[in-house]
Amino acid sequence: MARVTLTIDNGPDPEVTPHVLDVLARRNVRASFFVLGSALADPARRRCAERARAEGHWIGNHTYTHAVPFGQNEAPDAVEREVVATERLLGDLAHEERLFRPFGGGGHLDERLLSRALVDHLTAEAYTCVLWNAVPRDWEPHDWVSVAVEQIRASPWSVLVVHDVIPGNDRRIDDLLARLEDRGDEVVQAFAPDCVPIRRGEVVRDVAPFVGR
Ligand SMILES: [Zn+2]
Repeated sequence: MARVTLTIDNGPDPEVTPHVLDVLARRNVRASFFVLGSALADPARRRCAERARAEGHWIGNHTYTHAVPFGQNEAPDAVEREVVATERLLGDLAHEERLFRPFGGGGHLDERLLSRALVDHLTAEAYTCVLWNAVPRDWEPHDWVSVAVEQIRASPWSVLVVHDVIPGNDRRIDDLLARLEDRGDEVVQAFAPDCVPIRRGEVVRDVAPFVGR
């Protein structure tokens, strides 16, 4: 038996997220949605995040544009534009631990993820930085559900990244949850400590491997 935390990134998307929420409700699973500020600025997308929050899911900040990874972003106001602006839009939707998830392009855990200015901001403002350890590459046209099951099987506690901006992922998430249930795996909402280098502003794991500039 393995443990898995389901995290759903890059939305919300009014064509996909409501169906994902239906699946999670039917299967009584709570997840975390790491949303984009640019999506929250759209009322229809924001309503999806409001529904997710109302149904017990956690909502975190996943930058405003999801364009240039922090480790490569040379804009002096990147933190303000990407993190602060998104947190402002999140408002009451934000989880009390101020969840933030960076991105690196392709799910790689390397120096693309963070900048020193970002780490300074996350610690000063008491954010919790949530990484991951299982990426089934659901954006590629392959049987990512089987890849996810293999990854989950290989680790005692997986923090899995999937996306609610890909049509059909509601069905695939449903398939995944069915297969995990058949195996007796445990789906939890908390994050594996290994995937949380900063908790409530305190650096609890070495972030140097993730800092690019
Ligand atoms: Zn992302």
